[in-house]
Amino acid sequence: MHEVGITRSIVEICEENARRQGATIIRSVTVEIGELSGVVPEAVEFCFEACSKGTLLEEASLIIDRIPGRGRCGDCRAECGMDPHSFECPTCGSLALQRIAGDELRVTEMEID
Ligand SMILES: [Zn+2]
Repeated sequence: MHEVGITRSIVEICEENARRQGATIIRSVTVEIGELSGVVPEAVEFCFEACSKGTLLEEASLIIDRIPGRGRCGDCRAECGMDPHSFECPTCGSLALQRIAGDELRVTEMEID
């Protein structure tokens, strides 16, 4: 489960930022996770408590924003929803689908004191 490492780096990034701003506690953290990123939001939620123990994030609530996968066809330019297993354009059947959203994995907001 690589989510442990991911959650640990989310915690580290937040702590570093918060310390730089002179914060002593982090109230909440918002993380964007794309449906095509290969990261399971439930696993991050599960790891968060253990990873945040003893850090500025110990009391923080974790808010996860799920970004749906979207693709654009390189042939007909049509846009469509994508899941991790879709490679074919639903409009023209081409295999030239490119991801335009859903790969996200980033901290977008942090509430500190
Ligand atoms: Zn197409």
